[in-house]
Amino acid sequence: MQKHKMQKHKPADRIQDLQYFGEFGGVNPSITDSSTYTFLSAKTMFDTFEGNADGCYLYSRHTTPSNLYLGQALAAMENSEAANVTASGMGAITSVLLQFCQSEDEIISSRTIYGGTYAFMKNFLPKLKIQTKFVDITNLESVESSITEKTKVIYCESVSNPLLEVADIQALAGISQKHNLKLVVDNTFTPMIISPINLGADVVIHSLTKFINGSSDTVGGVICGTQEFIDDLRNVNDGACMLLGPTMDSLRAASILKNLRTLHIRMKQHSQNADFLARAFAKDGLKVVYPGLENHSGYQILKKSYNSVYGFGGMMTLDVGSLDKANALMELMQQENLGYLAVSLGFYKTLFSAPGTSTSSEIPIEEQEEMGLTDGLIRFSIGLDDDIERTYLKMKDCMKKLEILK
Ligand SMILES: *Cc1c(COP(=O)(O)O)cnc(C)c1O
Repeated sequence: MQKHKMQKHKPADRIQDLQYFGEFGGVNPSITDSSTYTFLSAKTMFDTFEGNADGCYLYSRHTTPSNLYLGQALAAMENSEAANVTASGMGAITSVLLQFCQSEDEIISSRTIYGGTYAFMKNFLPKLKIQTKFVDITNLESVESSITEKTKVIYCESVSNPLLEVADIQALAGISQKHNLKLVVDNTFTPMIISPINLGADVVIHSLTKFINGSSDTVGGVICGTQEFIDDLRNVNDGACMLLGPTMDSLRAASILKNLRTLHIRMKQHSQNADFLARAFAKDGLKVVYPGLENHSGYQILKKSYNSVYGFGGMMTLDVGSLDKANALMELMQQENLGYLAVSLGFYKTLFSAPGTSTSSEIPIEEQEEMGLTDGLIRFSIGLDDDIERTYLKMKDCMKKLEILK
């Protein structure tokens, strides 16, 4: 109990405890705006290529001071040794999988994952003879029984998109270690709330596009892991990040770092608002899914492993029965300025979309049905509304108008 309490502020504390100044004593680190760097001696250039000149910059696809600052802060948040930022979340995911896997290898992945990740594993990786087995990640027996001598990676999202299933990272890490695999966790839905490295994950990925940047003005990604793995990714000879080129721009790294400063405050507000709405809609008899509700299948797992001060997150789903009703409700809520009909998440404004026809449309209809992704499902990313009760009453009016609620 005591230990749990001591852990709860850690992700934000670790970021807070970093101290860096700009070149001229600025309170923000200076933005470096160069694609290439001079060397005083030719010998140092050679050493840098060989990876032996710590602190020397070579060329900005490799890394930049601004990108290192952001990487350092995100590594602090995730309690990993190091991190490498990328131009998008997909840039992070694809680089990690291609670094770990080669031809004839296999991945075991949760079947309820981000549509782009699913499409990459299902349609792209087979071109390189890398196969993926999609499993119900909450069924630990089926995860373990899917492992063969070809398996290299177990892949999951800590809280899944869009169904909000909760992965038991601790248990998955146990299985992964037992079979000498790498456990890769996409923590995009729950930054600060869940710390997968502390639970035994090997690599943590985020789409910075979502909660972490939080202003829907850029895409970005990050890979958090051991110093050795991050060095491997940046290796000039065989590193996926260096050679595939998913490099973040320095100007963007600097702006994301500034947004990261308020993440802990935003996460609390997102969670508080989502919790309020989920409880109110559940009381109204609506089919609502929120991992903070005691009847949610992943509630107990989250409860034992999350950093409680940040709550259960800002994502919620509502099943209103049919796609027509879902579409009508989303259009009406947008008209009433309660949020935007848009994909993505983690914005100040509530965002909603019907995953079956948008972000998860890469998943075939039969498979959507099998995993419980119904037609009438609306995915909400709850915003930072100051008066959430006012929002709730307005949303309720919309539902009454459309006869979703009596
Ligand atoms: C958005 C998202 C991604 C992809 O990130 P991009 O920044 O759009 O490339 C990956 N995983 C999850 C869970 C996401 O929500």
